[in-house]
Amino acid sequence: MDKKNIIKEYTNGEVTIVWQAAKCIHSANCVKNNPDVFQPKTRPWIKPEASSTEKIISTINTCPSGALTYYMNDAEGKKHESKLKMG
Ligand code: SF4
Repeated sequence: MDKKNIIKEYTNGEVTIVWQAAKCIHSANCVKNNPDVFQPKTRPWIKPEASSTEKIISTINTCPSGALTYYMNDAEGKKHESKLKMG
């Protein structure tokens, strides 16, 4: 299994977190900024339901490597993951 190609997506129904394993430099910015969501010792290591969408986005913006990105589930052209309760 080639870990370098792993791309994982995690959604809270509103925002989808995209994590690219190959880009992650394990700086742990995400863990420090939002330990409720980013829990590298557990599986799945990202728990998007554990904080607000706003906080998830601001945390992703602190990722220095670009490993973490996100998209809004309602953004045009993006897929709709499982339709969970909104807001
Ligand atoms: S902030 Fe980005 S580079 Fe750092 S551990 Fe989290 S995902 Fe990896």
